[in-house]
Amino acid sequence: MCAARQQDDEGHLAVTSEGRAVGLFRLVLAFMVVVMLAFVVVEGWRIWRDYRHAFSNAENMVTNLARATAQHAEDAIRQVDVVTASLAERLEGDGFEHMDRPRLHALLAQQKALMPQLHGLFVYGPDGNWLVTDQAAIPPNANNADRDYFVYHRTHADHQVRIGSVVRSRSTGDLIIPISRRLEYGDGRFAGVLLGTIKVDWFVRYYGDFKIDERGALVLAKRDGTILVRRPFVSRMVGRTLANSDIFRNHLPYASEGVAEAVAVVDGTPRLYAYRALSSYPLVVEAGLSRESIVAPWRHDAIKSVAALLLLLVGLAAFGGVVLRQLRERIVIERALHQAHQTLRSLALTDSLTGLGNRRRLDAVLAPELRRARRQGHSVALVMLDLDYFKAYNDRYGHLAGDQCLQRFAELLQQALRRPADLAVRYGGEEFTLLMPDTDGPGAELVVQALQQLLRRHVIEHGGSPLGRVSFSAGIAIGDLARDTITAERLMAAADGALYQAKRQGRDRYCLADSVAAGVDP
Ligand code: GH3
Ligand code: MG
Ligand code: MG
Repeated sequence: MCAARQQDDEGHLAVTSEGRAVGLFRLVLAFMVVVMLAFVVVEGWRIWRDYRHAFSNAENMVTNLARATAQHAEDAIRQVDVVTASLAERLEGDGFEHMDRPRLHALLAQQKALMPQLHGLFVYGPDGNWLVTDQAAIPPNANNADRDYFVYHRTHADHQVRIGSVVRSRSTGDLIIPISRRLEYGDGRFAGVLLGTIKVDWFVRYYGDFKIDERGALVLAKRDGTILVRRPFVSRMVGRTLANSDIFRNHLPYASEGVAEAVAVVDGTPRLYAYRALSSYPLVVEAGLSRESIVAPWRHDAIKSVAALLLLLVGLAAFGGVVLRQLRERIVIERALHQAHQTLRSLALTDSLTGLGNRRRLDAVLAPELRRARRQGHSVALVMLDLDYFKAYNDRYGHLAGDQCLQRFAELLQQALRRPADLAVRYGGEEFTLLMPDTDGPGAELVVQALQQLLRRHVIEHGGSPLGRVSFSAGIAIGDLARDTITAERLMAAADGALYQAKRQGRDRYCLADSVAAGVDP
C-alpha cells in the first residue's frame, strides 16, 4: 500500500503534465472550430443580407419606374382626352352643318403643335369620311369607316374617350395609339368620330431614357392585356397579349399595384416586376428588372467573399494543424518521458537479482509510512532477516549457487507475506527487510514463523550449516506510533539489535526488540 502510494504521488505529477497538454490540445481544437464556425456564420449572414438588399433595392427601383411610366402615360392621354372633349363639345354645340372647316383646321393644327406626343387630330363624318384634320390637305377619298374605333363608336352610345390598340397610320405610316370619342347630333344620332393619335415612338423614346440593363423591361398595355408599347421595342410584340401572364392573371385582379417575380411570357426572362393600373384609364404599366441583373453583382461579391473566406479558413486550418501537431508531439513525448521515468524509477528501486525492492525503495517508503501510521494511530512492524552461515554456503557451492539460493529465499519470503501492503526488500548481501504497516508484534511473528515453516518444507540443502539446510535469523521491531515518537533510524536500529541477539542465541530464530522471543526449535 505504501509502495503504491509513493508511485502515485510522482505518477500523478507526470500525468497532470500530460493531462495539461491534452487539455490544451482540446482547447485549441475547440477554439479553432469555434473561430472557423464564427467566420462561416458571420460571412453567411452577410451574404444573405446582401442578397436581401439587392432584392429590396430592385423592388424600390421597379416601383419607382412603374410610377414614373404610369404618370407619363396618364399625362399623355389626359391631354388628348381634354382636348378632344372640348373639341367635341364645340362641334356638337355649333352644329355640324355650320362647321367652319378652315378655322377648325387651324385650331387642330395649333393644339397638335402644343402637344409633342400627338401624331394627329382628326374629325370623321358619320360615313367615315375625313372632315377636318390638323394636316393641311386631306387625301382624296380618305375613309376610316373600317377602323376598329369607328365601328365601336358607331355602335356604342357612350361618350367616354376610348383607347384603341396600336395601328399603323394611313397618313404617315407611323405606329400610333388611337384615342377616340363619339360625336352626336343634337338628337343623339351618330355624327362621326373625333380622333387624337399618339405616336408609339413618344413612349419608346421616353422608355429608352431610363437607365436599366438590356434585359430589363417596360411595358404599357391595355387592361385586357394587349401590349401597346414595350421596351425593348420590337414592333412585332405590339398587339400581343399579356392576358395569360402571371401578373394579369394572379395579381392585377386583386391589387391595382404591386411587386411580383414572374417569368415574362414575351421573352421567357425571369424578372422582378412592379405593375400598376392607371387610375383614370384602362391601362397597365409594368416595369421589370431581370433576375440576373439583380443577382449578378451580388453573386460576383459573394464569390469573392466566399473565396476570401475559404482562403482564411484554409490558412486557419493550416495554422491550427501546425499548432495541434506540435501539441500532439508534445503529448507523445511527455507520455514517453513519463513511461521512461516510471521504468527508470522502478529499475532504481528494484533489486536485479531477486526482483524484490531494494534498499532505496525501503528508504523512500519508510519515513512516509511512519508519518501515515502516526496520523492514523497504527503500529508498523519492521523485520530484519539475515541468512545463517551464508559465507560458508558460497564457499561450498560457489557464488552462482549462492545467488540462486538468494533468489529462492526471496520467492519464499514473498509467499510468506499476507497483505498487498507488506513490502519485502533485499537490504543488501544476504540481508532482507520486511515492512508491514498496521501490524503488531504477534502479527509480525506469524509472518516470520510462516517463512520458517516454508523453509522447512522447501529445504535448501546447506552442508556448511550445523542444521544441514539454509536458515535465517530475524529481529522484529514494532513501532507503536500511537505512543512512541519513534523514527525510521531508531526502528531500524532496534530491528538490527534484535537480529544480532537472534544470531548470538544460536541462529535459526527470531527476537523481538526490547523483549526476546525464542524461536521455534527445529
Ligand atoms: P552469519 O550466520 O553470522 O550471518 O554468517 P554469514 O556467513 O552469513 O555472515 P557474513 O556476513 O560473514 O557473510 C555474508 C556472506 O554473504 C558474504 C558473502 O560471501 C555472501 N554474499 C553477500 N552478498 C552476496 C551475493 O550477492 N551473492 C552471493 N552469492 N553471496 C553473497
Ligand atoms: Mg550478513
Ligand atoms: Mg549471514
